Amino acid sequence: MSRQERMVIVGGGQCGARAAHALRANGWDGAITLIGGERTLPYERPPLSKAVLTGERSTAQGTLYGDAFYEEQRIDTQFGRRVVALDRQRKTVCVEGGHVIAYSKLLLATGAAPRSLAVPGCTLPGVYTLRTDVEAENIARQLLPRRRIAIIGAGFIGLEVAASAVRMGCEVVVLEAAPRALMRAVPALVAERIVDLHRSMGVDVRFGVKVLRFVGNDVVSGIELAESEVVGCDAVVIGVGVTPCTQLAQRAELDVADGIVVDSGLRTSDASIFAAGDACSFVHPLFDKRIRLECWKNAEDQARIAALNMLGHEETCRNVPWFWSDHYDMTVQVAGLPSLGSSTVVRETGAKSCVVFALSTDGVLVGASGVGPIGDIAKDIRMSQDLIARRMQVSPVALMDRSVRLRSLMAADAL
Ligand SMILES: Cc1cc2nc3c(=O)[nH]c(=O)nc-3n(C[C@H](O)[C@H](O)[C@H](O)COP(=O)(O)OP(=O)(O)OC[C@H]3O[C@@H](n4cnc5c(N)ncnc54)[C@H](O)[C@@H]3O)c2cc1C
Repeated sequence: MSRQERMVIVGGGQCGARAAHALRANGWDGAITLIGGERTLPYERPPLSKAVLTGERSTAQGTLYGDAFYEEQRIDTQFGRRVVALDRQRKTVCVEGGHVIAYSKLLLATGAAPRSLAVPGCTLPGVYTLRTDVEAENIARQLLPRRRIAIIGAGFIGLEVAASAVRMGCEVVVLEAAPRALMRAVPALVAERIVDLHRSMGVDVRFGVKVLRFVGNDVVSGIELAESEVVGCDAVVIGVGVTPCTQLAQRAELDVADGIVVDSGLRTSDASIFAAGDACSFVHPLFDKRIRLECWKNAEDQARIAALNMLGHEETCRNVPWFWSDHYDMTVQVAGLPSLGSSTVVRETGAKSCVVFALSTDGVLVGASGVGPIGDIAKDIRMSQDLIARRMQVSPVALMDRSVRLRSLMAADAL
């Protein structure tokens, strides 16, 4: 049976849309089909917890490409439809409704879905998670002056929502089960500075809190905690992390372990199938470690690499991980993998800002986390990316000293 050569991408998020573009931009002249479960054109999610909640941006402003782009680029799109099955023998995907599409190469860019909190009352109206434009619009409608907004989870999404809610004049409480904020993402000092900032803005941030249930009749009105205290609220936003969307891969018996397992070229255990973005876990050659990233830059980078490798190139995911998060007039930026460090060094970069460097046992820089006004940290984080990429052994004394330009450390030895 002759069949048209077709690249199929499942997942109409940032990574999927960018990969479709990259396929065309890198010379693929055959068919491309992009299938996404959300109705809206693919968009960027970072503004959803920031400017969209404060009304400074509409969700539509985050759209990556307009309708005309997909037409001009000859990308068939099926938005608002989920792929429900993958047949690896026949090399087809089945879209809900029964439409079957054959692929030559397939990219799974299915992203991640927010975790809920499996306690009684979690489905009450007024309890939200935040991943999509629709959810952001629903939460934005709740952020009215003096309304009490309870946020479960002091991770980046929860704390960004807290900052937006404060800006909108809400009373905000953040309830976190762990002993501190941003547990997995940044060193304690960076987390402390962010929490101090939130508290100075009036947010009631509590740690070591166990949520027993959400209470309310027609709509949520409170949260019962383990100590039988009830925290009153008008709306709840749950920000307790995400789970990679691996169901399709799992059912098709591809390897899955905290994400769809791929090699550093984003190939799954099936040579015709690739995975990229929040959905996949890959071996990062720089750290020789399997990781899964949940950030904007990774979605951009992996979209391009997946597209190139689908076209037969041999690219690897070597870029140093980088992400940012905004809180009031401060930003957090992280380069590398701070959690791999065995010691830290602090550089105070301004009155309210610092960069915490993470060093491995052999003195190699593996991570840098900055907090402060963007102008006080961005340059050091940028230079840290280069030092991390080169596996530089760096002097802790030099790192600590803000008068030493990080660029000057580039001359040191690389491991
Ligand atoms: C509120 C919010 C704020 C953020 N802020 C920042 C930030 O400040 N900095 C930063 O670096 N990163 C941030 N991120 C993270 C960043 O947006 C993500 O890492 C990025 O969106 C990942 O892109 P992706 O395409 O892999 O996944 P997604 O964006 O999740 O896209 C996956 C798409 O696949 C679809 N899909 C899943 N399964 C199927 C199926 N079976 N059939 C069809 N379609 C399917 C989903 O519906 C979804 O549309 C933020 C994320 C959120 C939610």
